[in-house]
Amino acid sequence: TEACLGAIDGADALRAFVHKTPEIARAQAAQADAQIAQGAAADLCGVPIGIKDLFCTEGVASQAASRILDGFVPQYESSVTAQLRGQGAVMLGKLNMDEFAMGSSNETSVYGAAVNPWRRAGSDTPLTPGGSSGGSAAAVAADLCLAATGTDTGGSIRQPAAFTGITGLKPTYGRCSRWGIIAFASSLDQAGPMTRDVRDAAIMLGAMAGHDPRDSTSVDIPVPDFEAALTGDVRGKRIGIPNEYRIEGMPDEIAKLWEEGTSMLREAGAEIVEISLPHTKYALPAYYVIAPAEASSNLARYDGVRFGHRAALDAGDGITEMYEKTRAEGFGAEVQRRVMVGTYVLSAGFYDAYYNRARKVRALIKKDFDDVFAAGVDAILTPATPSAAFGLGEMSDADPVRMYLNDVFTVTVNLAGLPAISVPAGRDAEGLPLGLQLIGRPFEEGPLLNAAYSLE
Ligand code: GLN
Repeated sequence: TEACLGAIDGADALRAFVHKTPEIARAQAAQADAQIAQGAAADLCGVPIGIKDLFCTEGVASQAASRILDGFVPQYESSVTAQLRGQGAVMLGKLNMDEFAMGSSNETSVYGAAVNPWRRAGSDTPLTPGGSSGGSAAAVAADLCLAATGTDTGGSIRQPAAFTGITGLKPTYGRCSRWGIIAFASSLDQAGPMTRDVRDAAIMLGAMAGHDPRDSTSVDIPVPDFEAALTGDVRGKRIGIPNEYRIEGMPDEIAKLWEEGTSMLREAGAEIVEISLPHTKYALPAYYVIAPAEASSNLARYDGVRFGHRAALDAGDGITEMYEKTRAEGFGAEVQRRVMVGTYVLSAGFYDAYYNRARKVRALIKKDFDDVFAAGVDAILTPATPSAAFGLGEMSDADPVRMYLNDVFTVTVNLAGLPAISVPAGRDAEGLPLGLQLIGRPFEEGPLLNAAYSLE
């Protein structure tokens, strides 16, 4: 814990931690020492971790990297962070992210973007750690903590993991409780571990997972021993290679990485099969209707009355002006864009044309996966991202759709509710890390982790 606190203080330039909690960390570490002395140490006893700012932490500012939650200090702890604490984990502080987890580069954060500890060979250009869990990824990659929590609505664990050379797992929807996690798109959001390797991911997931009566979408099934699943044996497993992920303009180095990952699995004894997920090309548009729709509803609660920031009012301003001014000041541009898109696609005149259509497309995307799994495929291998980390500022210019295209390989999984993991798998020509994604059957995170383990 002391080593991490020192490293964090020396790494302010990365803007990974936006809120440090050294007193809490030291008190929890002392408790861990006592538990170890008594021989009563739980799995994560004394392990120092960072928590994404989207998780409510009792008595510790939780702002979702938004101005509108300025000064919000929750009176309760999210289920996932409470469970990690219950296993002895030590909290070092809160980690940077895109505002309300909307973004792929961390640049929508009110704190300013977290910075990737990696650089292109021979260049000083600061790179994005990805998003939205960019602070978590940067912190783990720079050894500021042993592991971190992330959340993934459309790729926000897997893309930053790929950009920083770490491992990131999005569990099956319903595996981890969403209670106490600030909501973005409730039917897609899922918490998961961001770690140095697959074994750590398995251990962290074991602590984070489990049924919670306070989240009706959390599933009441046993949490297996994920670490025990790591045998490295993938002989006879059927790995699907989806044709539709060979997108136009895929950089050679991404195609090569995918090819190499395929060969590694084949050499380990897996059976490689070509598969088709025909509705893949509709995933991004469906996601960027459904996620904003749910966000516009979830973010309606930030009205200047109940939480955080309230705008200064002029004489004569009524409640409508209070809402308008507070939300105009409190939400950044990307969040405002999503609230407006979401309100539009849910409005009476456009509901059928956009929101309902997107829901039908979502069902077809899920059916594509169901069909492939029913045909005996155990896991699906794809690239995690269409490129390596890009420079801060390089993509955040006028056209938001360019940024959305980053999620092309990751959003399908959230729409279908499946588990998926990104593992570091190589480097690009400039020495930057690249990630491969494995997608698993629902609630089969154990075999999924094991397949990823065989790629390490
Ligand atoms: N980049 C995607 C978005 O902006 C995904 C974000 C996430 O998974 N939280 O919506």
